[in-house]
Amino acid sequence: MNPFTYTRAEDVATAVREVASGGAAKFIAGGTNLIDLMKEHVERPGRLIDVNRLPLAEIQPGPDGGLRLGALVTNTDVAYNEQVERRYPLLSRAILAGASAQLRNMATTGGNLMQRTRCSYFYDTATPCNKREPGAGCSAIAGFNRYHAILGASEHCIAVHPSDMCVALAALEAVVHVAGPGGERAIPLAEFHRLPGDAPHVDTNLRNDEIITAVDLPEEGFADHYAYLKIRDRASYAFALISVAAALRMDGDTILEGRLALGGVAHKPWRDRGAEAILQGGAATRENFQRAAETLLHDAKGFEHNTFKIELARRAIVRALGQAAAGEART
Ligand code: SF4
Repeated sequence: MNPFTYTRAEDVATAVREVASGGAAKFIAGGTNLIDLMKEHVERPGRLIDVNRLPLAEIQPGPDGGLRLGALVTNTDVAYNEQVERRYPLLSRAILAGASAQLRNMATTGGNLMQRTRCSYFYDTATPCNKREPGAGCSAIAGFNRYHAILGASEHCIAVHPSDMCVALAALEAVVHVAGPGGERAIPLAEFHRLPGDAPHVDTNLRNDEIITAVDLPEEGFADHYAYLKIRDRASYAFALISVAAALRMDGDTILEGRLALGGVAHKPWRDRGAEAILQGGAATRENFQRAAETLLHDAKGFEHNTFKIELARRAIVRALGQAAAGEART
């Protein structure tokens, strides 16, 4: 372990001041990802700022009839919150599809947004990895890439974002609130995570001197017609090969509005407005679901070990949309 200093912030302003003062500082809350990365020498912060005492652990009414999740609310407390279960069951199902009960008890909303890829080469300091060491190369492109991206990848990185929670947040069009030295700002979930491009070491559009304070859920929760379908190698405690968050607003058999977000396919939760436009105003038929899936996957590209994910994603999208339309949500 590399030496680091440890401080504990009691309020947001102090936390921002601490992180902005340099020294390769990192925030720590649940520590369910950062501690592992530090043990593997992938993350080597010079300063750790414990934010667990910040007053950000509440779930409160949000603006315009929505719900505000404090950044320190644990994944367990979000998933089992009465309002989340009733109004945003898609989010509850997605969170409960991820990790283990013990991890969900520790992991926080803000930390879930910030978790890093589970690409095995990223964790193996004996192998080249552009995300860990810019310019070193990408071991996954010609290596074992079964879990890697089929959309939005670059020649520099083909890693995927590992979160289930964020896939549901993308479908719900959540908004991330952050604070920094220049004040507060809001980042739509769709703009929070980045594609790798030529800078895969930068996962998000959060600045180094900013802290996540809350996540707002809009009023519409798609509670009547939703599905979170996660395809993985074993039934629990596994990251998604493919996950699909499907959310529909329906009038009889007609889809008034359709949302689709995919996990396990790209460097960020994947939305495709063109695919969603195909659903809008149409009937909830298998043919329309297949057309939406074809559109979403039009530019999908596989690598040696993961080409199967393209067909898997196509089938998962159709199945999730069918479950959502029928109102028979499952994980
Ligand atoms: Fe590193 Fe990304 Fe390549 Fe994985 S896919 S080895 S994280 S550069």
